[in-house]
Amino acid sequence: MIATQSLREQVAWACRILAVEGYTDLTLGHVSARAAGESVVQIKRRGVGLDEVELDDVVQLDLAGGAGFDSPEMHLEAVLHTEVYRARPDIGAVVHGHPPYATALAATEARLELLTHYAVLFKDGIARYNESADLITEPEQGQAVARALGSHRAVLLRNHGVLVAGKDVAWAVLGAVTLERAIAMQSVAGSLGRLRPIPPDWAERLYPEKYTDRLVEEYWASWIRRVQRFSARPGNAPGASEERT
Ligand SMILES: [Zn+2]
Repeated sequence: MIATQSLREQVAWACRILAVEGYTDLTLGHVSARAAGESVVQIKRRGVGLDEVELDDVVQLDLAGGAGFDSPEMHLEAVLHTEVYRARPDIGAVVHGHPPYATALAATEARLELLTHYAVLFKDGIARYNESADLITEPEQGQAVARALGSHRAVLLRNHGVLVAGKDVAWAVLGAVTLERAIAMQSVAGSLGRLRPIPPDWAERLYPEKYTDRLVEEYWASWIRRVQRFSARPGNAPGASEERT
């Protein structure tokens, strides 16, 4: 399904999916994507919530010429995206947001434990950006975040939020949603008793069995059906559905 959608459509869907998965923070949080080898980045514009993004709310930034940066529609933290793309040619999509559990973990010294299948997606660990709690508005700050991310899938931004990267939009969304679930489960487990993490060799075995392109494709189609039940699809006027009431 995702293969038939334009990058712009994918970004709009990703915003809606992240909204139903707990990433909504009024108009904050953004998703971007770029095609392999391209310098044009499709990114959610400033001023709309993730849950109300339409196709027209996805705007362009040019990594090569810098066009788009000065637009009043551009998020202040667009450099988070552009500097990760510059540092990681393997990355095709970036999510930045302030989801409650991951943002809370980013305000602690606690680490993500391998407690659930969700956490297994991050078996190689998650990165931390601890240099400041500021908004990331300057290219130098974006570069520091990209350096902190390194080869990881996700980086916790101290006292701020998360950045999750993926080879494409569906994998970035999977990472963003799964990170939040993994941390939420850790938070619940910690209140129940002593933690019993998955041994690393079990996680190594589980990972390739579970996290495949096929699963991500399946999830993407399911997420879209879910968004359709709760709202209208990007490009259509939002309207109430029976499921909403
Ligand atoms: Zn932010």
